[in-house]
Amino acid sequence: MKIIDIIKGDKPSFSFEVFPPKTEEIFEPVKDTALKIADLKPSYMSITYGAGGGTSKFTADIAASIQEKGVPSLAHLSCISSTKERIQEELTMLKEKGIENILALRGDIPQGMNMDHLDYHYASELAEDIKNFGGFCIGGACYPETHPDSVNAEQDIENLKKKIDCGVEFLVTQMFFSNDIMYNYMYRLLKAGIDVPVVPGIMPITNAKQVATAAKLSNSFVPQSFLRIVDRYGSNPAVMRQAGIAFATEQIIDLYANGFNAVHIYTMNKPDVAAAIMNNVSEIIK
Ligand code: FAD
Repeated sequence: MKIIDIIKGDKPSFSFEVFPPKTEEIFEPVKDTALKIADLKPSYMSITYGAGGGTSKFTADIAASIQEKGVPSLAHLSCISSTKERIQEELTMLKEKGIENILALRGDIPQGMNMDHLDYHYASELAEDIKNFGGFCIGGACYPETHPDSVNAEQDIENLKKKIDCGVEFLVTQMFFSNDIMYNYMYRLLKAGIDVPVVPGIMPITNAKQVATAAKLSNSFVPQSFLRIVDRYGSNPAVMRQAGIAFATEQIIDLYANGFNAVHIYTMNKPDVAAAIMNNVSEIIK
């Protein structure tokens, strides 16, 4: 099933992201974890793509296994370290495995990478190739707090428009911890004429160490209200887990209440956290 039809449907969409293993040895346990999350029956699940692409088969295999459970999957695919030829092979593999949805990404630029003679520079070029290949619903990433490589926020939104012109049908956001930032971003997207569905991505922070890593990786602002929780309860894992789930739940309920019909949860491969949050919003998404 195409993700665009799910997120445009009448029923609120509630979906999960999982990541694949880095090595073959742990493929089975990681797949089992992903399938446990699929057992919760979210609207769909996305599976990330390892930087560099060395684990792309794991992404495709886990995406296919999730679909066997009756949950549509969205396979991430990045292009910066790839070639035109290899992308055609990846698209063929995904199609053969019955995957219908791809999140088209550039990927982070590896340190010291020689930018001359690359086949791909931006996700828009990948989206165009996927569109020409045919048969896939294409999503793209967006950044409420601006992508770190961008000159400024306006330019980032102008570039986002190019990605949509190249075939991206819906957007999934980088994590954010203040909904006001998201609402302001939506206003700016609409002003720029971007009207494809935008799915907010929410990361439940369930341990103190995660705060700094997540904020650094995503360039996200962390509100004082959450920093106070970390200050007071950071050394108590049980309280941090409970407070992190509550904070994310509050964000999600507020997003649905403000008119979003789809929310995506970065599960960090934690079935218990995914289940707890889903349970907290069960009446909203049923
Ligand atoms: P792009 O859309 O290409 O944008 C990258 C930068 O280039 C931006 O600053 C943009 O403004 C600028 N730009 C775009 N087009 C142009 C143009 N035509 N001219 C000039 N500038 C331009 N990474 C992974 O490795 N694997 C994953 O599975 C993965 N999943 C992700 C899922 C989500 C929801 C998000 C938000 C990010 C994910 N990432 C993943 C991280 C992502 O790969 C990085 O953030 C990467 O640096 C940018 O990818 P992009 O697709 O957003 O790039």
